[in-house]
Amino acid sequence: MKKTDIIVIGAGPVGLFTVFEAGLLGLNCILIDNLDKPGGQCAELYPEKPIYDIPGVPIQTAQEHVDALLKQIKPFDYEIHLSERVDLIEEITHEDDNFWKIKTSEDKEFISKNIFIAAGAGSFEPRRPPNIEDPDKFLSNGVDYAVRSVEKYKDKEVFIFGGGDSALDWTVELSKIAKSVTLVHRRDAFRGAQHTEQQMRNLVKDKKLRLLTPYLIDSITGDKRVNSITLKNFETNDIESYNADELLFLFGLNKKLGPILDWDIDLNKKKIDVNTENFQTSKEGIFAVGDINNYPGKLDLILSGFHETTLAVQEAYKRIYPGERVPFGYTTSNSKLQ
Ligand code: FAD
Repeated sequence: MKKTDIIVIGAGPVGLFTVFEAGLLGLNCILIDNLDKPGGQCAELYPEKPIYDIPGVPIQTAQEHVDALLKQIKPFDYEIHLSERVDLIEEITHEDDNFWKIKTSEDKEFISKNIFIAAGAGSFEPRRPPNIEDPDKFLSNGVDYAVRSVEKYKDKEVFIFGGGDSALDWTVELSKIAKSVTLVHRRDAFRGAQHTEQQMRNLVKDKKLRLLTPYLIDSITGDKRVNSITLKNFETNDIESYNADELLFLFGLNKKLGPILDWDIDLNKKKIDVNTENFQTSKEGIFAVGDINNYPGKLDLILSGFHETTLAVQEAYKRIYPGERVPFGYTTSNSKLQ
């Protein structure tokens, strides 16, 4: 079981900046995020939108902001585990001392004196097809909710479901390498970027992909992996069968507090109560920073989260080195940054 100075739950902007502040004090971190990429809301919800209220940075897109944070923490000691949710936190005794142990959805376990919950509005969970019972029984065996490796779709019969940017982008992209791509949507109107929709429609005209509207998935068949599906045509009510290797359901994401509700920490509506001296929760050694926390005057802004985690890291240091003075120095004198 790996031990670290700080376990950070959530790799949004505030989780990432925690690594920087911890690094300044010589502390290492393990970050875990449910998403397949770092950046939280910035990367997932509005990567192209400009942000104007980061001090000293007049304008930056949200993705540029995430990239800058990743560059800023590069000199420091951290590891990041993506596409994994933290499900469990429990107190344990280790080498005669009290620690927190966490367990992830991939059954990994880590221990630390300090847990930083930087979970924003909760973990983003992909929306499942509503009318299919337990589609996850084929997860990674023909059913996916995100593209993790383009190679996987090479020479395969691929069905993509959805009407937003992801569905359109991947339809266009995968049509270059798949044996066949079929885009299935419940109506013949798309929410994604117009120029990608046009690209998709041109590919349909050139017979490089198939578009099925208004259709919906009706059933998935297979033993251990998907081998065929049926689709329902809304206009005729006909059920049609197709051979299929890979299904991609790109219906967007739901935000869920999920396991946080079970961690026995004082909550106020869907936020975690903290004291504003060190952003500790009702449990010693468990901190909540960024959008997930609650205190009088709280603003859900990146800037506020940066302040909060800076103070929380000071307290984390004291918990690891009780009685020692927290080293203070301006970043100019930090050898890792030169
Ligand atoms: P998040 O960015 O929400 O990241 C939290 C991460 O934790 C997520 O990736 C989630 O998957 C992960 N997570 C949650 N639970 C778990 C778990 N159990 N296990 C593993 N991972 C978990 N703010 C500004 O300052 N300026 C702006 O201009 C601005 N514009 C915005 C525009 C929009 C459209 C939106 C929606 C928000 C905007 N915000 C803006 C707000 C800003 O995005 C948030 O304040 C910021 O993202 C909070 O960062 P965070 O790190 O606390 O949480």
